[in-house]
Amino acid sequence: MDKDVAILGLGTMGGGMAANLLKAGFSLTVYNRTPEKAQALIDSGARFASTPAEAAAKASVVISMLADDAASREVWMGQHGALSTVREGTILVESSTVSPAWIAELATVATQKGAALLDAPVTGSRMQAEGGQLSFLVGGDDVALNAATPVLKAMSKEIVHLGPLGSGAKMKLINNFLCGVQVASLAEGLTWIERSGLDVEKALAVLKAGAPGSPLLGAISTRMTAHDYSVNFLLRLMAKDLLYAEEEAAHCNVDLKMAEAARSLFETAAAKGLAEKDMSAVIEPLRSSK
Ligand code: NAP
Repeated sequence: MDKDVAILGLGTMGGGMAANLLKAGFSLTVYNRTPEKAQALIDSGARFASTPAEAAAKASVVISMLADDAASREVWMGQHGALSTVREGTILVESSTVSPAWIAELATVATQKGAALLDAPVTGSRMQAEGGQLSFLVGGDDVALNAATPVLKAMSKEIVHLGPLGSGAKMKLINNFLCGVQVASLAEGLTWIERSGLDVEKALAVLKAGAPGSPLLGAISTRMTAHDYSVNFLLRLMAKDLLYAEEEAAHCNVDLKMAEAARSLFETAAAKGLAEKDMSAVIEPLRSSK
């Protein structure tokens, strides 16, 4: 495999992933709708493409790391979309958290172009993206995954092949369903602690050391108590993930009532102007409610 890689989307996650690809010695072309976000990568040796089509034209692996289904559709299939120039044999890696239904649609067009698609969303957040410590949850065939592995390895500590195309997207939504519900329930629990007269620090220490304790509870409770909403994971993206989870689970006749309840908290917070804050800001409307 030659070393020409393109990455589409340089947000919180894509920016860190791109920096690790450069560090690993790949010849990297980057595209982002807002070009300013590419400057540091250009300074470090990346080529900038002004359209997704231009970015994908020479690459043997094209990765996308975009907000949602609509962004992914725009970048792959919109005017000047990447699929207009991908060559036969190119491997497309969709790493955004998107719906399995969109992955299936994207695969149909990729196949018409003779390209192979992997769905490879990630776990880990800003720090893991910057540190090359993500976990890829992959769906797709072995041949494509083997060919893409050197590229994925440069950004990750783990590559989990879950099965055929769509398996990574499904797994990611299940993962984020559990995360979203835990963050929402923590927001309620911490608001309750704060109003109860308990010592907040002692109460959180009990939860962290006890059965409810998890890496997520530890990290998010620290941010909530510090009122630190600098972005690791955008609040509006968690609302999106819960919606996609509800839709996907419905295909398996599972009614995600917990996801629906959690999503209403995230959507309320987004409507109150917190959409562009970290998801831990979901606690603020609860704190200010009577
Ligand atoms: P982000 O910082 O909001 O970046 C989103 C990217 O999508 C940006 O490059 C943005 O371009 C682009 N974009 C959005 N709408 C677009 C459109 N209509 N057309 C073209 N480009 C568009 O999000 P992120 O945190 O990097 O997350 C990226 C994906 O990874 C999401 O699916 C998210 O759910 C998932 N994820 C995030 C985390 C995390 O901790 N942050 C962890 C795991 C997975 P602009 O720069 O021009 O806005």
